[in-house]
Amino acid sequence: MRDESVFDELKEECGVFGIAGHPEATRLTYYGLHALQHRGQESAGIAATDGGAFRHHRGMGLVTEVFDDDTLRKLSGHTAIGHVRYSTTGESGLLNAQPLVFNYPFGPLALATNGNLVNAGRLKRELEREGSIFQTTTDTEVIAHLIARSRRERLEDAVAEALAQLTGAFALLILTKDRLLVAQDPHGLRPLSIGRLGDAHVFSSETCAFDAIGAELIREVQPGELIVLDRSGLRSRSFAPPARRAVCSFEYIYFARPDSEIGGINVHAARKRLGRQLAKEAPAEADVVTGVPDSSISAAIGYAEAAGIPYELGLLKNRYVGRTFIQPSQEMREQGVKMKLSAVRKVVEGKRVVMVDDSLVRGTTSRRIVRMLREAGATEVHVRISSPPVRFPCFYGIDTSDRDQLIAAIHSVEEIREIIGADSLAFLSAEGMLEAIGRHPGELNRGHCLACFDGRYPTEIEDAMVMEGRR
Ligand code: SF4
Repeated sequence: MRDESVFDELKEECGVFGIAGHPEATRLTYYGLHALQHRGQESAGIAATDGGAFRHHRGMGLVTEVFDDDTLRKLSGHTAIGHVRYSTTGESGLLNAQPLVFNYPFGPLALATNGNLVNAGRLKRELEREGSIFQTTTDTEVIAHLIARSRRERLEDAVAEALAQLTGAFALLILTKDRLLVAQDPHGLRPLSIGRLGDAHVFSSETCAFDAIGAELIREVQPGELIVLDRSGLRSRSFAPPARRAVCSFEYIYFARPDSEIGGINVHAARKRLGRQLAKEAPAEADVVTGVPDSSISAAIGYAEAAGIPYELGLLKNRYVGRTFIQPSQEMREQGVKMKLSAVRKVVEGKRVVMVDDSLVRGTTSRRIVRMLREAGATEVHVRISSPPVRFPCFYGIDTSDRDQLIAAIHSVEEIREIIGADSLAFLSAEGMLEAIGRHPGELNRGHCLACFDGRYPTEIEDAMVMEGRR
């Protein structure tokens, strides 16, 4: 988890968690969301049912700030879904916090999604023309209205019909009084896994949440799959024909927790391989290797191992700077007040340092860290990035900024080196990245989205963002 005021490059998206058929479903959802906290820190929510009552609670802040013992007790049920959010569409605020809850002829229905639709603008305009009134600015509400307008009699048919109209990234959980529905977009852009805890079924954006509650990973939800869980058990169907698998490669590079597994690949191991590959492609004459905490540590260790240069803790993050921390003024910063990240003088002083970072988006973070290392006495700073240059915006739920703010979209590698003040700069190649993550070319199931690196989006990009010139 990066702190946005220091690490102002990439912003996380959201995390979803659900469990069906467990007497402690709400409490387990709380623990699951806590394990997914790195995916979103702006709001959290849980909806739960015991088959009769249907309750929900949402709030702004971290999971531990939104829920206390009393709130969890009031939400008790055997089936629950939860959400942590960093807003990527719709303004931040309680109104947009999820799960969103709606009343339908089927009864109350709660929705929690991770991802971003690229045709939500058009769908929303069409729905509004037909009389729908929107209460929030999230994509998730578009899904809710499509379900409501379906003429299908069975809820799962209405959901399948709604999902078939969506384009983009979505890992979706829907809770009603008597069932849990789970779906993954046809490209599988956002991770979503199924686990078991005794007789209960568990669903999570990341497998680290399964470990947190002692659940066992069964498999991933397949692209285009709709799973329905009710009293008669688990049923699976497709709502869309299989498309090319395109799981977000940034999940491996940066977003996911190192102990999570995506597509059978452990994230920490993948990051180490990214670092090793980077050392092969872009060696440096140096005395120490250090990584930008926390997400670049694994890649830095891999780089150090492959290069035969010692890995050292050259940069340290202060973990006790919370959301409400009073920031130092600009003047204090200029005087050297550093609250969130520090260079360890004893480690870098008089040394040639390789600084490994997982990504370089706007360049502001790298410039600051290079300066910090020099001020602490580093004689040379060689920046190595364990992913290719980000040249295109993401439309699938990651806030990578407008294209004109992406430093690699407007500058050459040499120009970027000069801007960030490094002695040398190199990025990992796209081929090297895929090789390191662990692509199995023969398997349909193992494709990755690389659109922010190569501009080849796995879906049509039809929405307003494009018309507004973001691409
Ligand atoms: S465009 Fe980039 S950040 Fe967005 S889903 Fe694809 S790989 Fe991930």
